[in-house]
Amino acid sequence: MIARYFSLLVAWWRGRIQKQVKETRQDIAGREEAQEHLRLSRLRYEMLFNRASDGIMFMDNNGQIIEANAAFARMHGYGLEEITRMNIRDLIDPDAAQLVQERMVRVTSGETLQFETRHIRKDGSISWQEVSTSYVSIGRDNFIQSFHRDIARHKLLETKLLAMARSDTLTQLPNRMSFMEKVGLELLRAKRTGCLCAILFVDLDHFKSVNDTLGHSVGDELLKDSAIRLASCIREIDILARIGGDEFIIFLNDLDNGEGAQQIAERIRERFNAPRIVAGYDLFITVSVGIAIYPHDGDALEDLLKNADTAMYVAKGAGRNMFCFFDHMMHENAATKMQVERSLRDALVKKEFALFYQPIVSMTDGRVRGFEALLRWFKTDGAIVLPGGFISVAEETGLIVPIGAWVIEEACRFNKKLVDAGHTDFVVSVNMSVAQLRWKSLVGIIKNALDQSGLRPELLEVEVTESLFIGSLEAAIEVLNAIRALGVKVSLDDFGTGYSSLVHLQKLPIGSLKIDRFFIREIAKDSDENAMIPAIIDLAHKLKLEVIAEGVETAVQLEKLLGNRCDFYQGYFLSKPIKADDVPVFLANIRQS
Ligand code: C2E
Ligand code: MG
Ligand code: MG
Repeated sequence: MIARYFSLLVAWWRGRIQKQVKETRQDIAGREEAQEHLRLSRLRYEMLFNRASDGIMFMDNNGQIIEANAAFARMHGYGLEEITRMNIRDLIDPDAAQLVQERMVRVTSGETLQFETRHIRKDGSISWQEVSTSYVSIGRDNFIQSFHRDIARHKLLETKLLAMARSDTLTQLPNRMSFMEKVGLELLRAKRTGCLCAILFVDLDHFKSVNDTLGHSVGDELLKDSAIRLASCIREIDILARIGGDEFIIFLNDLDNGEGAQQIAERIRERFNAPRIVAGYDLFITVSVGIAIYPHDGDALEDLLKNADTAMYVAKGAGRNMFCFFDHMMHENAATKMQVERSLRDALVKKEFALFYQPIVSMTDGRVRGFEALLRWFKTDGAIVLPGGFISVAEETGLIVPIGAWVIEEACRFNKKLVDAGHTDFVVSVNMSVAQLRWKSLVGIIKNALDQSGLRPELLEVEVTESLFIGSLEAAIEVLNAIRALGVKVSLDDFGTGYSSLVHLQKLPIGSLKIDRFFIREIAKDSDENAMIPAIIDLAHKLKLEVIAEGVETAVQLEKLLGNRCDFYQGYFLSKPIKADDVPVFLANIRQS
């Protein structure tokens, strides 16, 4: 019994021992496995930490670097050993110390931050980095952990893009945005110091025609050359920018007085007032300049620019190749102009235009040569506007083209009615602005008006003025020749007021010449102008031109003109311009007298 009990005990005991041995073996295996796991995990962590392309770093609450990876050391140009003895403050701009301190406070209170920053490398160069940082607990200790990504290439690209956005790629000058920024700061300074400054708005004259006729590459070269010329006219403290197309702006800094701006504007005008060779072409491109003075013409940069722009337009309107100071009256004029433009647009549709006719008769026998058609605008409010009140706006806005076409058609219809009534050889004259002559379909419009009305071409006359000489004379002559080829007459209006010399007369395909009212007024006086009239009439006759005197108001004037062998006249002495309906009455009266 005891033996049996003993053998059972031994068996139980053996079982237990075996179990214990087994358990111990399992324990050991488990531990070993855990250790291995830990080893692998550490290996993986080390690989990640050391081979990561981004910098990783741990520091304590004082900014002392505890541990950093190779990438972090490399980014800063230090060895791993070196950098782990350093403080974060050794790696930053001293100016940024305050900011770094603030960030550390935020991170240690639980915030995760992401920001771009610049660190200083061992060699003093700058390392742009994107940083992501947070506060972590490892064991009993807390650390600031941060990841650093090198963004040098990204920054370079950004800087390049920024530079591109700030400069004009063609001329390399600052663009509008950059100009506004720089000048905005300068104006703040001027406000503090009370100094005088100026904005010059510079626009090339007839740049579009260079672009259109010689091509954009020549236009580009012209702009580059213009930028260099402008830069040579200003001082180092001034700012020059191109703000698009052929427009440049200049900020003149720290002027002693307004004359300083005038001197520079004069210098610019002179630098451009000469032929220059651009891309192999001999070009003569002048500039128009508008000037606004700070603080006199405005406090804010936008106002100064707007005012300089307005002044530039006035310089252009006054004939180009000049500069003009801003004047507050200019805005009022501009506002009136805009009003006129708006109602002019409607006037054609609403049929508010009418032609008045002023007779032109022979000096010697009073025979009627014909009528000059003069445009009148009957506004809905009852006002009658003379051409002086709207023709220049119509020219500037291009509205002269449709209005002019209507005038030609209406004048042809008027004269055809006279022909049908038995007055078979009166000439109707229409006035033509230079803007109309530049218009390609003008010849077609005239031909069409003749065809539609059935008027013989020799009973229509086109009056052009000497302002023809401002633009390209050759092109104008070509158009006039085409008009003449239709059989239509051409005459030179307002002779003596403009730019023409007698030499030019020979070149023009004209049949008659109208002496301006100004000379006729002088004729009774003993003045120099008075002496010119016989000379003009003689020369015109030598060139086989008929001479018409405009604005004859008195019998004395008429007598003098007759003595000077003038051929025809018109003027209040004979008749004011009259309505089409009154023409038959006029003709009946003149026949009786
Ligand atoms: P213009 O062609 O020299 O026309 C003669 C101007 O002198 C007319 O003024 C006429 O009314 C005025 N006049 C005629 N005789 C006398 C006179 O004895 N004394 C005075 N003081 N004035 C006289 P208006 O009608 O005001 O026209 C002014 C200018 O407007 C015209 O000068 C012409 O250049 C332009 N114009 C008129 N109609 C048209 C048109 O249909 N198209 C274009 N483009 N211009 C036009
Ligand atoms: Mg005329
Ligand atoms: Mg005239």
